Amino acid sequence: MAEILVLVDHADGVVRKPALELLTLARRIGEPSAVVLGAGAAAADIAAKAAEFGAAKVYVADGAEFADYLVVPKVDALTQIAKAADAAAVLVTSSGEGKEIAARVALRLGSGILTDAVDLEAGDGGPVATQSVFAASFQVKSKVSHGAPVITVKPNAVAPEAAPAAGAVENVTVAFTGNAAKVTSRTPRVASGRPELTEAAIVVSGGRGVGEASGFRVVEELADSLGAAVGASRAAVDAGWYPHSNQVGQTGKQVSPQLYVAAGISGAIQHRAGMQTSKTIVAINKDAEAPIFELVDYGVVGDLFQVLPQLTAEVKARKG
Ligand SMILES: Cc1cc2nc3c(=O)[nH]c(=O)nc-3n(C[C@H](O)[C@H](O)[C@H](O)COP(=O)(O)OP(=O)(O)OC[C@H]3O[C@@H](n4cnc5c(N)ncnc54)[C@H](O)[C@@H]3O)c2cc1C
Repeated sequence: MAEILVLVDHADGVVRKPALELLTLARRIGEPSAVVLGAGAAAADIAAKAAEFGAAKVYVADGAEFADYLVVPKVDALTQIAKAADAAAVLVTSSGEGKEIAARVALRLGSGILTDAVDLEAGDGGPVATQSVFAASFQVKSKVSHGAPVITVKPNAVAPEAAPAAGAVENVTVAFTGNAAKVTSRTPRVASGRPELTEAAIVVSGGRGVGEASGFRVVEELADSLGAAVGASRAAVDAGWYPHSNQVGQTGKQVSPQLYVAAGISGAIQHRAGMQTSKTIVAINKDAEAPIFELVDYGVVGDLFQVLPQLTAEVKARKG
């Protein structure tokens, strides 16, 4: 059966959820093999988790290079493993780092890259990726016509499903090529206690309609009741009400959660570009004519300062 390599993203010794989604998708197009790089002592636990989600094999490579340099050591490892295994495809999470790794691997393999896939299926002559294009106005299906495709998949494309497999560990010694940008210092990100915006299953976003920085409190309270990440429109970010790292849209982050709640956001095309592939979209806006209502699954015409606290109270009541 065709071997599909999945680069397993991990942090602090824990597998990140998008990697489990990739393993779930990989099973549709062949037999998944996980690639675990630079995990140190956590590699065994990560390999076990990958096996739980369908990895028949787990390639493990370690070395200080993975932490000391930016993407090139991972590119070296993934390319070497893909060639040795004669992989039929390579799947990587659609993050900034993931896309850079994927592009370099595709170049070295002499194949092609498909980015930001939202679905994958088996097709004649290789996997077919569904991509959402032109600010998510159209869906296209694409496949690479030459070599083993390298495909980046957006987080939340599928719900991860366990399917225990052998997870036979194979230790790999990587021949590093050098020429990598060295990491000279690290500054830990201030933890908000909320999930990472691009990976969150639920995102609650606020826009200019929140009125001022303190108006985000009702947005955050709803997000916390749902275990969600907080997003913001560019208007809210430009006003200095919320950090740029939380901006959703064309010039912000692309999110594709199971549930996206937009509060006080009009629905400009540049905002839609970052959230339109969300599975279920809910908007709260006091203007019934706001463009956001054209794309929602559920819309509430009302003042967000009245609607959000009621929603938060209801969520809390139902959770008990
Ligand atoms: C090159 C370029 C790139 C851009 N990139 C991005 C991007 O990445 N992300 C992004 O978001 N935008 C981006 N924009 C900006 C975009 O065009 C819009 O200006 C922006 O999205 C508007 O933000 P907003 O919906 O919060 O504000 P507005 O358009 O002002 O909408 C505010 C909404 O809040 C509603 N409202 C007001 N008070 C309340 C209340 N109390 N209760 C309920 N509803 C209320 C109003 O009815 C209105 O619909 C970009 C623009 C350009 C030109």
